[in-house]
Amino acid sequence: MNSIRDLIKLCGDDPDRDGLFETPKRVLHAFLEYTEGYREDPKNHLKKTFDVDHKQLVLVKDIEFYSMCEHHFAPFFGVAHVGYIPDAKITGLSKIARTVDGYAKRFQVQERLTNEIAEAIEEILEPKGTMVVIEAKHMCMCGRGIKKSDAATITTSVHGIFENQSDKRAEFLSLL
Ligand SMILES: [Zn+2]
Repeated sequence: MNSIRDLIKLCGDDPDRDGLFETPKRVLHAFLEYTEGYREDPKNHLKKTFDVDHKQLVLVKDIEFYSMCEHHFAPFFGVAHVGYIPDAKITGLSKIARTVDGYAKRFQVQERLTNEIAEAIEEILEPKGTMVVIEAKHMCMCGRGIKKSDAATITTSVHGIFENQSDKRAEFLSLL
């Protein structure tokens, strides 16, 4: 907490004034919430699987997430679209959203977040293919430096059948 007091001083304000006195405690609690993902293994959400004879695309789109840019400790947020083509196992749709959350609530970069979600699905569900697309806005791009507040960053992670069959990728993208 002293480090947050020091930060307030370095920015040029007085950590002992009324409005800021309780701030270090509030910041600590907020950060523990932003980083809840460190205290779980997000893959575990996927481990409740069902055997189903469905071999077509399963797509969960517009999963809202909030994350924290590890370079600036500024929020970045947006939506994740997670798709996979099952082989034998499927998981509950809400479990995919929980997995996204578990990786988002860490210090992150968007590229790694995208890959970690896809790799968790690959490892646990062993599908024919996995594809994840994330669209996000970065407050570190909005509030400082170049100030491009409308810029969105899109990242993708493509595995298995999506890698070598462009019609599968096209089907995924046409549904977004
Ligand atoms: Zn940043």
